[in-house]
Amino acid sequence: MKIGIIGTGYVGLPTGVGFAELGHTVVCVDKIKEKIDMLKTGHLTLYEDGLNEMFVRNLQSGRLSFTTSMRKAVEGADVVLIAVGTPPHPVTKEADLKYIYAAADELASYLTDYTVVATKSTVPVGTGDDIEQIISRKNPTARFDVISLPEFLREGKAIHDFFAPDRIIIGTNSPKAAELMQELYKPFASKTEILFVSRRSSETIKYASNAFLAMKIQYINEMADFCEQTGADIAEVSQGMGLDKRIGKAFLNAGIGFGGSCFPKDTMAMAYMGRKVGVSMDLIETTIAGNKKRREKLAQRICQELKDIRDAKVAVWGLAFKNGTDDCRESPAIDVVASLLDHHLNVVAYDPKAMQNACRIFGSSIAYADDMYGAVKDADALVILTEWPLFSTVDLNLLARLMRQTYIFDYRNMLNPIAAAEHGFTYQCIGKK
Ligand code: NAD
Repeated sequence: MKIGIIGTGYVGLPTGVGFAELGHTVVCVDKIKEKIDMLKTGHLTLYEDGLNEMFVRNLQSGRLSFTTSMRKAVEGADVVLIAVGTPPHPVTKEADLKYIYAAADELASYLTDYTVVATKSTVPVGTGDDIEQIISRKNPTARFDVISLPEFLREGKAIHDFFAPDRIIIGTNSPKAAELMQELYKPFASKTEILFVSRRSSETIKYASNAFLAMKIQYINEMADFCEQTGADIAEVSQGMGLDKRIGKAFLNAGIGFGGSCFPKDTMAMAYMGRKVGVSMDLIETTIAGNKKRREKLAQRICQELKDIRDAKVAVWGLAFKNGTDDCRESPAIDVVASLLDHHLNVVAYDPKAMQNACRIFGSSIAYADDMYGAVKDADALVILTEWPLFSTVDLNLLARLMRQTYIFDYRNMLNPIAAAEHGFTYQCIGKK
């Protein structure tokens, strides 16, 4: 098949590479010329585990190509995937659909034979109807179906998740579109549940899923706060809870709260949608507020502890919103660092992959280290904000020699508290006294 992909971000790019790997001809279009120039010349524009090799192989084979021309991506395509951003509206916090509507308008003129236009972006219920109208208005003779094809990949595991998704949700009432999707997803059929639902249900499934996962994170963080006051250990509590199959083990790691380009915006969008139709989304509203407060509260803990140290220097390990990605969008680490700066603390940061993105945010207001030990030299405190496995390999002897004072705020519970205490550190983690 020929597949056109609109948007070469964290969803569009791995998805394009994945479909090319399966043997399809994939043409990815993006409006940012610098991105396309880099991708054309074999340079990735974002970090994803395992993406590079597959990207280069498919680019060289000619199955995968990149362009700024919508015509080249859409003309003759069997399927066009829309994978543009749906950021929160600056005022209302609903999903801002300007990129979706623009993409629909731009692609409409180039539809030739029957095409399935599939929305991979996370969009509010009813957006498929809008896209359909935009295309029909612009190109009344076009033969197409608009379907919802929500994306569930996890950043940092995008390639793994492309080839081994938990489920594939296809939202359409058109038998013709369903048949084409069945063909496209044939390689997955033996190992993955493929669920056909209505377009509106499919659009809702995505938001309902993300809001539920966000609530699970907020819930375990509340339990962690409780453990800190009562002498229970959140690691043991999570383990005990997770053994119940009805609860499940995933998303029970207490920490600094959820971030990234999806959960914060999708919970806000879901809450907005509820308000719009008069359905109260109290659980989701509470989750949003609690998650926001958490960043500030954890930053305050550091400031409080260091308040008597003159010119205190804080080493920060981790800036990405989670490990395995360079994505800093809505990263809790970014808010914590910003709060430390507000309190006039000096910050030296290190992240294995997110330094460039962080630099775009903080510029020269913080210092950047080349490696994790470089960051802690003469630091008064170490703060761990992203769960990169590298950080758990720390040599505590070396750390103690390099640091000026010995505070550790392990907000991802990566180190062994007993070992840290034995090395003379004043150690604080999450969910444990
Ligand atoms: P992104 O910002 O990384 O990428 C979007 C890309 O689309 C950008 O490169 C932008 O230049 C391009 N674009 C915008 N308008 C365009 C147009 N008219 N023509 C061509 N290119 C255009 O976004 P993302 O993280 O890939 O997310 C895309 C969508 O997928 C969002 O709705 C998001 O909620 C959803 N989603 C994201 C993830 C994730 O892990 N990032 C997971 C599941 C779903």
